[in-house]
Amino acid sequence: MFNALVITKPESGYRCEMSAIDEAQLPSAGDVTVRVAWSTINYKDGLAITGKSPVVRSFPMVPGIDFAGTVTHSDNPRWKTGDRVLLNGYGVGETHWGGLAQMARVKGEWLVALPESLSEREAMAIGTAGYTAMLCVQALQRHWADAGVEPGTGEVLVTGANGGVGSVAISLLAGLGHTVVASTGRLQETEYLKSLGAASVIDRNELSAPGKPLQKERWIGVVDSVGSHTLANACASVRYGGAVAACGLAQGMDLPASVAPFILRGVTLYGIDSVMAPMPRRVAAWDALAKTLDRQQLAAITREIGLNDAVGAASEILAGQVRGRLVVNVNA
Ligand code: NDP
Repeated sequence: MFNALVITKPESGYRCEMSAIDEAQLPSAGDVTVRVAWSTINYKDGLAITGKSPVVRSFPMVPGIDFAGTVTHSDNPRWKTGDRVLLNGYGVGETHWGGLAQMARVKGEWLVALPESLSEREAMAIGTAGYTAMLCVQALQRHWADAGVEPGTGEVLVTGANGGVGSVAISLLAGLGHTVVASTGRLQETEYLKSLGAASVIDRNELSAPGKPLQKERWIGVVDSVGSHTLANACASVRYGGAVAACGLAQGMDLPASVAPFILRGVTLYGIDSVMAPMPRRVAAWDALAKTLDRQQLAAITREIGLNDAVGAASEILAGQVRGRLVVNVNA
């Protein structure tokens, strides 16, 4: 038997509770069994656990879109007992039982070998939010390399700065030598954002209301986890030939923008998806995270909770109250 959070949807309503589960009940649509060590609470886990959006497609469901742990059984030639692995996305925690549990069974082709220099805890402190931040940064890096733009030659905007994606993006970009401007609704966290490497901090209200289709050119690049008017205003103020990596919808799913920045300033909008990202991109992102992410900063952005605390944390993240990353010790 092992402990897991389980979401059910009886007539009486949507529920997420701790349950004891027999290993024999693990999904048969998987060929590798993993003893999970750490998982996390991402924004999407918040949606799944609370039922605020229809993230979960079948019931009962174990939530948790990511985990790190050790293989205990494998029918897949790529993996053997004892291998250290991590997983992000592929519908895990949505359509397939996920990581907020002490055991998981998944398809071997979804797993990434845990980079040697990362512990399971560090990998999940990074989690899907941090891995997505790296996918955003790498999209911008490819763009800048192509355009001949060097770090330090202009400002890079990071929205949703106190969130998981935002915090890791600031640390990564500053580590690469970029001048990072952090946009936040929590100006009281300015010192924290500067400690991650933000050169300056702006109030997110400057970006969140409807704005002009073209605004003063400011950013050489943007990492946006907020969407809606914020993304529209970000695009409208990117410098000629610059780029935006859009991955989130914390403000909204809409994009009330015009084509002006794209057709008059040659701005590029990159869509970033972590869930179905091709395996070579995943491996490259995790390798780069293992090599470049500042471990002290990672520790500073991470708060540890137990599986029992995950339901409360889900509401907290949706309310925009989580700073940085929540890592879940599934054995606590
Ligand atoms: P967090 O909740 O940790 O961070 C989101 C941040 O956005 C908050 O901390 C807050 O930052 C800001 N924010 C919250 N509400 C609003 C609002 N109404 N208007 C403007 N800003 C707001 O979430 P994550 O960092 O884990 O994820 C961020 C987004 O990215 C989510 O929408 C998530 O679904 C998406 N995502 C997408 C992925 C993909 O594959 N495309 C993968 C991972 C995440 P502050 O207080 O500093 O303003």
